[in-house]
Amino acid sequence: MIMTPGPHICLINPYIWDFSAFDLWAKPLGLLYLAGTLRANGFQVHLLDCLDVHFKGAEALASAPIRKAFGTGKYFRQGLSKPVALEKIPYHYFRYGIPIDLFLKALKALPQPQAFLVTSLMTYWYPGLKETISILKKIFPATPVILGGLFATLMPDQARNRMGADYIITGAGEGAILNLLASLTGRSPTRVPVADDLDSFPLPAFDLYRTLPYICLLTSRGCPFSCPYCASQVLQPGFRQRSPDGVIDEILYWVRSRAVRDFVFYDDALLIGFERHLGPILEGLLKRGLDLRFHTPNALHIRELNESRARLLFRAGFRTLRMGLETTDWSRHRSWGGKLVQGDWERALRVLEKAGFEKKRIEVYLLAGLPGQTLGEIEQSIREVRALGIRPRLAEYSPIPQTPLWPEACRHSRFPLQEEPLYHNNSLFPCLSPFSWEAAQHLKDLAR
Ligand code: SF4
Repeated sequence: MIMTPGPHICLINPYIWDFSAFDLWAKPLGLLYLAGTLRANGFQVHLLDCLDVHFKGAEALASAPIRKAFGTGKYFRQGLSKPVALEKIPYHYFRYGIPIDLFLKALKALPQPQAFLVTSLMTYWYPGLKETISILKKIFPATPVILGGLFATLMPDQARNRMGADYIITGAGEGAILNLLASLTGRSPTRVPVADDLDSFPLPAFDLYRTLPYICLLTSRGCPFSCPYCASQVLQPGFRQRSPDGVIDEILYWVRSRAVRDFVFYDDALLIGFERHLGPILEGLLKRGLDLRFHTPNALHIRELNESRARLLFRAGFRTLRMGLETTDWSRHRSWGGKLVQGDWERALRVLEKAGFEKKRIEVYLLAGLPGQTLGEIEQSIREVRALGIRPRLAEYSPIPQTPLWPEACRHSRFPLQEEPLYHNNSLFPCLSPFSWEAAQHLKDLAR
């Protein structure tokens, strides 16, 4: 049987406009999952990732950014004038991503796409998203642009009215996108992943990258907790895990096909159900004698750590551990539902050290700038973490629409958060009160 080539779809990871951005194993995993699903349904896919430092033609440029260990590092960037809403903010503003001329060249070299699928992340990055879509429209004015991802899901009206896309998809959109593409291209889906069966999803299409220093893994979706500041329940309601064998096969595939050694877990709740999930995955890999490294940019649940689990993490090759402490104000933890109680964190630290993790390899996230949080509470948390010889990482609070804390954030903020997503930017400490730039800098210095 002769197969006709399927419709050509181009997936786009857009530019970021911000005061600062750092590539901490950041890849558009949702978009890559979608690319895998489209290919499994007979579409031809191209990926243009505006943030890819290994983009064709980029590495030879004199402006190529400094890269760090295990595939992290700086992005390309170009200075920009600040949007009017941010005029008074005393920081420089940048477009993060490859030089525009490289993007244009790659776009012009594409076969005529039948649709663009554009993803989106932080709500306050929308100017970079809007710019990317306007470039697509300039080069291919007749090609429909479908916008999905976080911004589209969290602020669908803003996404619909301000970005210049033709279609908006909210939430995890495999089924919706396949149906939309069927109406746009005439190609009906034959393989639709089942949302509740994560093993039914084709592998994310990381092979679309020319250079692969690491692979991002999602072994589960969602989180069983519901912290009021977090969008996990909005973006991925419910908690589901893949089969350990499926995850092992995915890792082996990349080891064998592209000699990848570094793997990055994107899970929100990696340690939950350890003995039936992550434990068998790591044991299975250890049996094969592979020399792999694992990284966890998302916070691990402190309470899930015990001696045997910590030992297995260490033996399996976890390098840097990041844990979600958030604050040492235990009454605040109680009001959030008791994800952690006093003493959990010191106990977890002891078992990690006993397992072999050096303190310099352990980092702890502390939230800074929650509505109603005092400077004193943040300072105290930083000091308590430092006193144990651990590096605190300030996670400056960014208000997220649709989260339980959003209404309180809107009441506390010195900015009109509902009207202007640029004010959700965590660099502004939008909900810190009383606020001054000196106080913000003082917190950063204290945590350094
Ligand atoms: S535990 Fe982490 S991922 Fe889960 S709801 Fe809380 S902050 Fe979000």
